[in-house]
Amino acid sequence: MARVPVIGGNWKMHLDLTEAVALATDVRNRLGSTRGAEVILFPPFPFLKTIADRVEGSSIQVGGQDLHFEKSGAFTGAVTATMLKSVGCSHVLVGHSERRSVFGDTDAVVGRKLLAALDAGLKPVLCIGELLEERKGNQTFQVVARQLQSAIASIPVGRLADLVLAYEPVWAIGTGLTASPEQAQEVHAYIRQKLADLHGASFATATRIQYGGSVKGSNAAGLFTQPDIDGMLVGGASLKGEEFAQIVKARA
Ligand code: PEP
Repeated sequence: MARVPVIGGNWKMHLDLTEAVALATDVRNRLGSTRGAEVILFPPFPFLKTIADRVEGSSIQVGGQDLHFEKSGAFTGAVTATMLKSVGCSHVLVGHSERRSVFGDTDAVVGRKLLAALDAGLKPVLCIGELLEERKGNQTFQVVARQLQSAIASIPVGRLADLVLAYEPVWAIGTGLTASPEQAQEVHAYIRQKLADLHGASFATATRIQYGGSVKGSNAAGLFTQPDIDGMLVGGASLKGEEFAQIVKARA
């Protein structure tokens, strides 16, 4: 079964409103009628509504970079899944390595966030991946298996149809070090096997697994040649419309 490629642009904590609108306009002009691939932008929270309005009517979708697992309450600085939906988000990143390492999101918290996203009808992009010392210690498979298992094992497979996974080796994020296509494929194939073990072969075959970690216009095509790489989650290179479009067009 052919999986539709999915490419996300994670703008992280960059840009001001004027720059964000200019970037979204540029991306819309270049990619707004993309067929054969899904394109999702993940702007900072304050720009979400503006950017969602800016790309409305095009094929580009918008997502939040994070969410809180509670439905409301005294959680200063946090946002809920329904808030994200109400400003035009279809997707949300869950468990990005920067949330795990900088903000202390544990596997348990990531699991609760995933459930909160699903409860609200947001499509989650669940990020998993190993640290450099874990790779050096040959623990990559163990780490991604643990992250995957703790997030999705207890969720009925029928609720996971919109789940997208992002394999992001932490040592490759923002470092300029990209996993080689073969290194990435090895882990993607393992993740797909793990999905089959947890929830069956048809779920594993249908679920899209993005690669993330210093993806650029120049290395996207090579990564896309691999059979289990179904898309990219792009940080730095998504801040340049032309380069982001090059990445999407490497597959679309
Ligand atoms: C990311 O933010 O998920 C990411 C992969 O960043 P970069 O492309 O800059 O490595």
